[in-house]
Amino acid sequence: MPEAPVPPTPRERRALIAGCGITGPVLALFLTRCGYTPVLFEARPEPDDHAGSFLNLGPNGRGVLETLGIADTVLAHGAATTRLVFSNHKGRTIGSNPEHTTCVKRGLLNKALRECAEQAGIQVEFGRRLTDVKGGRPGEITAVFADGSTTDGEFLVGADGINSATRAAVFPGAPAPSFTQGIGSGGFARTHAPGSPDGTFRMMFGLRGFFGYQVLPGGEVYWFENHTETSEPARGWAASITDGEWREQLIRRHAGDHRLVGEILRATEGPIGRWPLYDLPSVPAWHQGDVALIGDAAHAISPHLGQGAALGMEDAVVLAKCLRDLPHARAAFAAFESLRRPRLEGLIRQARRTGGQMTPAGPVGRALRDLMLPFFLRLGLKNAETVYGYRVDWSAPVTAAGR
Ligand SMILES: Cc1cc2nc3c(=O)[nH]c(=O)nc-3n(C[C@H](O)[C@H](O)[C@H](O)COP(=O)(O)OP(=O)(O)OC[C@H]3O[C@@H](n4cnc5c(N)ncnc54)[C@H](O)[C@@H]3O)c2cc1C
Repeated sequence: MPEAPVPPTPRERRALIAGCGITGPVLALFLTRCGYTPVLFEARPEPDDHAGSFLNLGPNGRGVLETLGIADTVLAHGAATTRLVFSNHKGRTIGSNPEHTTCVKRGLLNKALRECAEQAGIQVEFGRRLTDVKGGRPGEITAVFADGSTTDGEFLVGADGINSATRAAVFPGAPAPSFTQGIGSGGFARTHAPGSPDGTFRMMFGLRGFFGYQVLPGGEVYWFENHTETSEPARGWAASITDGEWREQLIRRHAGDHRLVGEILRATEGPIGRWPLYDLPSVPAWHQGDVALIGDAAHAISPHLGQGAALGMEDAVVLAKCLRDLPHARAAFAAFESLRRPRLEGLIRQARRTGGQMTPAGPVGRALRDLMLPFFLRLGLKNAETVYGYRVDWSAPVTAAGR
C-alpha cells in the first residue's frame, strides 16, 4: 500500500511579548489557550524577585487570575485587605470603608506569575531588551533587541511598562509619560507599635504628606507615603540619595503627624523605594500593523486608585479573547482598543483627581475634609463597583465590532 502523505505541520503561531512584568505573563498564559506559542522577552538580565515595594491587587485582577485557575498560587504570599480606615494627622479616625483587595509584595507577584508561565511551558528569555520592531507582510513581525539579535513572530505585544520601547518604536511621536506632581515611597518595617494583622489598611492624611500602612500576618508592616512635589525630579534623582537620607527626610516631613508614622519609618529595614509618579493619559493609538500595546505601555495610571496591575490583567484576558475570536491580529487589536480605551481613560482621570485630594490643606480645608470624608467614602463605595466589579467572561465570543 502506498504511504499516506504526511500532512504539513501547521505553521507555529509565534506570539512575541516584550516584558515579563505583570501583564506579559498573564497574556502569555491566555494565549496558550488559543493555540499560540507565546515567547516572553524580558530586558532584565535575570529575575529580581525582591524588586519594588508592594501593591494591592483589586478583585477585578484576582478575577482574571481565577479564570486562569492560578489566583491562589499567585497570591499565596499576599494577605487580604478587608477594610480601609482613614484618619487625620492626629490619628483620629474620620471614616472607613470595606475593602476587597490583596496586599502583596511586587517582586513575589512577578515571580509567581513568571513561574506559572514557565510551568505552562512558556519560554521566558531574560536579557532581551527590545529596541525596535520591523513589520513585514501582515502576520510577519520582527523584534530587534539591544544586543543586535532579532526574532520573528506572527505579531508582537508590548507589555514593557510605562517607558515602553515598543511604544517608542511604533509611535515615535506619542506623548511621554506625564509627571503627576507626586512622589511615592514604600517599604517594610518590623515593629509591634501599629497593632495586629487584622486586614485593615490605615490611611493618614498627614500635614505634609499621605501615609498608609497595613500589618501583615507575621507582623511585617507594609507602608507607603505620597506627597506633592511641583517640579519633576531630575533623571537619576532616586539613586542620588541613600535610603537613610530619604528615611530622615520622610521622618522630618511627618514630624507633626501621629507618632506612629515616625515609628514605622524608623523601624524600616532594607531599601526604601522612592518614585516620581507618572501617568500616561492618552496614547493616540494602541496598535499599528501587527504590534499592540497593553498594560502600562498603553495606559499607565497613577497609583492613587491601586488599579494599574489589575487593569493590565484585564487587558490580557480581553486581548487574548480578541485574538482567539477574530480572523487576524490586526482585527483583534482594533477590537481590543475599542473595548478597552473608554474604561481606561476614565480611570486614569479619576486616579489623578484622587491624587489631588490627598494634597494637604490648611486648617479650614482640613476641618472641612474631616467633616465631608464619610460622605465621599459612601460615594466612593458606589464607584468601587464600577472599578472592582469588572469581569470578563472568557467563554463569551468577541465580534469584529469589539463586543
Ligand atoms: C508606587 C506605585 C504603586 C502602585 N500600586 C499599585 C497598586 O496598589 N495596585 C495596582 O494594581 N497597581 C499599582 N501600581 C501600578 C502597577 O505597578 C503597574 O500598573 C503594573 O506594574 C503594570 O504592569 P505591566 O506589566 O504593564 O508593566 P511592568 O510591571 O512595569 O512590567 C514591564 C516589564 O517589561 C520589562 N521591560 C521594560 N522595557 C523592556 C524592553 N525594552 N524589552 C523587554 N522588556 C522590557 C520590565 O523590566 C518589566 O519587567 C503602582 C505603581 C506604582 C509606581
